[in-house]
Amino acid sequence: MKKNSKKNPEMFKGNKKVIKSILSFGQKARLTDSSFTKIPNRVLEIDSYPSILKKGKVPLTKENLEAAFKEFIKEHKTTFKVDAENLKLISAKNINKKWHIKYAQYYKGIPVYDACVSLETSQDGKVHSYLTNYLPDIKVNTKPVVKLSEAVSIATKTYPKKYSEKMIDKDSTLIIYPEIKDGEILHHLAWMFILSEEQTNPETEKYFIVDALDGKIISSYTANFPGATVSGTVRGEIYPTNPTDTVSTMPLQHNTVEILGVGNSTTNQSGVFSAHIPWWVEIFFPHQAIFRLEGPYARVRDNNGNDYVVNRNYNPGGTCNQTWTDTDRDHINLFYHMNLYHDWLLSELGYSWVNLDGTNRFNAQVNYSFSNAYAGNPMTFGTNNFARSSDVIYHECTHNVLNHEYNGYIGWPNNYTEAYAMDEGFADYFASSFTNESRHGEGYTSSPRDLNNTRQYQGKDNFNLEGHTGGTVIGGAAWVLRQRMIDHFGQSGARIADQLILEAHQILSTYPRNYFFSDPHESNLLSALYRAADIDNNLLNGFPYFYDIQKAFHTHNLLQAILEDGDSFDFSTNNLGKFIGGDLYYYQGKFWANNLKQKGVVDLGNIGEADLETVSIPNTGYTKFGVNAVAGNTYISKAQEGEAAGYIAFRVLSVSADKSKVTLRYLYRFNPNWHVANTRTLEIHKMDCHWVSLMHNHNKLLCKDLNEAAKLIKDSGYNGCHFCLPRYDTDALSKQKVISNLNEDLE
Ligand SMILES: [Zn+2]
Ligand SMILES: [Zn+2]
Repeated sequence: MKKNSKKNPEMFKGNKKVIKSILSFGQKARLTDSSFTKIPNRVLEIDSYPSILKKGKVPLTKENLEAAFKEFIKEHKTTFKVDAENLKLISAKNINKKWHIKYAQYYKGIPVYDACVSLETSQDGKVHSYLTNYLPDIKVNTKPVVKLSEAVSIATKTYPKKYSEKMIDKDSTLIIYPEIKDGEILHHLAWMFILSEEQTNPETEKYFIVDALDGKIISSYTANFPGATVSGTVRGEIYPTNPTDTVSTMPLQHNTVEILGVGNSTTNQSGVFSAHIPWWVEIFFPHQAIFRLEGPYARVRDNNGNDYVVNRNYNPGGTCNQTWTDTDRDHINLFYHMNLYHDWLLSELGYSWVNLDGTNRFNAQVNYSFSNAYAGNPMTFGTNNFARSSDVIYHECTHNVLNHEYNGYIGWPNNYTEAYAMDEGFADYFASSFTNESRHGEGYTSSPRDLNNTRQYQGKDNFNLEGHTGGTVIGGAAWVLRQRMIDHFGQSGARIADQLILEAHQILSTYPRNYFFSDPHESNLLSALYRAADIDNNLLNGFPYFYDIQKAFHTHNLLQAILEDGDSFDFSTNNLGKFIGGDLYYYQGKFWANNLKQKGVVDLGNIGEADLETVSIPNTGYTKFGVNAVAGNTYISKAQEGEAAGYIAFRVLSVSADKSKVTLRYLYRFNPNWHVANTRTLEIHKMDCHWVSLMHNHNKLLCKDLNEAAKLIKDSGYNGCHFCLPRYDTDALSKQKVISNLNEDLE
């Protein structure tokens, strides 16, 4: 603290020079002194240029403006009694063909509370007026003795206990604070900060100015007063789904708005942002909000890497809205849909997207001249339609998500591999699941890819599809799984499928490369799906959704295995062994089932392409000892001991010339006569019913024929499953009707 004498002897010493200087401003200049500081606080009608502008011959530009007027203040130092070295330009606004220049006063690099110098000039730099509340002759220790944390704790103690624990400081800054006391100015080195609760509470939020040398509270006042905030809504023109859609104006969420001098505020779901305007911003900064297509989760720039920027002025306390419009609005659309997709992944799948480098914001650049879109960082989007199709945007974002999980793309750049087909197929899948539309890119292409398709897998040795096409095979299987889940659970079943598939990828990504659809010798998605579905670290005792996954893969001919000489294979877990374990083993051109728990195989001969789901399962003819593997023949294997009432229908697709390798496709089957009763819910199901896979094993009661099931229904209050045994469903039918149905079926 230093007392500043009311009398200023310098004033009189320089009197002569001052007069001369005023004349140099022009005849009409009028000067008044501050009654506190005794230096001029107001000089009007100056009519004089900074000398470096050579009376207007050198044009005034944004570049030379700061220096020019600093020079001007220096040139008239004897009049102004202001040290230009202590000034920093904080704003220069051109309003109505006049420049309004504002410098803040600093003392040894520390801002002086409220102190500034303002100049008003003509367009070419002729100064008209000078205003200031500059504080001369500050002398104060600039090294705080009291730490900020100590100052905060001093301030916190002024609150009742129920608040004091919750108050946190923000906007903290070290200032020089002038206090006027008994007509004199005292200079304090002080901490200035706001104390507020985590959730803004205008009742408790207060400013504090605490002396940084002795810890005394110099001043405190409530932080919220009219004009201390700016808020607004950000909207943008977007294409709701497809490039051909009617453009609609939607709120832009997760959009960071920069309030000059304050920092950033981010829009909420309704596109609304608001920011508190601290005192020094109100005083020192132009009231300007800067809008970019940027936020915590997405940033869109042009193809040169430049931001799209709009600056808007605001009035403190007022609103500042921004609606992004453009005839070519690709960038706006991209920003909107990236954020939409981010939120869907997060809220529906609990997945927060990340780049390979760990950052959370996906970057995109737009308006390239190519006809395509590419994943990467940044993602790049070509001509109009690619950035206008929400499908394409979600697709590219998914590539980046999977890229993060796999620490690289699944298969790219090997474009004709199963792995790359997974890159493309699942980029399509998640985009389609979000939009709930199996077609991908309708609206930008006349032949959109469709996950609802019947394309068949050619087998591992013959696979030769380009990734986007191959992707419709594996993505198609995923879509079948999703549809089955919707059939079981309603629309929310889609999320179960999404979750399973995402987890399967997270599991598969931990396996060594390369990646395949289903082959048990390789790191494959089918095995990963089984593990994602499993709940007890034991695949052999069954797991939820088993038959749904089987059926999904079966639909696209994806249940295939290549067995090598000596391989045993468990069909229901996709696990290989050597001779032992599994349902059977392949050895010297034959299928064998003579090891522990293996039960036997029967050859049905060549029955053509009959669907493995419907070939009838014989009761007899099974052998454990060497059934010849013949290309084209269909076989039934009993499932190994411990798997309830299971069979496997399989067909040999090829046998290598030296018989060292057999390729087969298969489908797990259940004994059609067997039923499962749930002892907890008293519901009876067919073995392949979806609900059986969700049942706890200890609740399962096996019925080896319909007779046993009928007894439970007739005598013990059991009920047929609504989905798989609707003829015996007493919830939908009268008990009498169910009994007559049972009697009919038992005949
Ligand atoms: Zn792609
Ligand atoms: Zn059922």
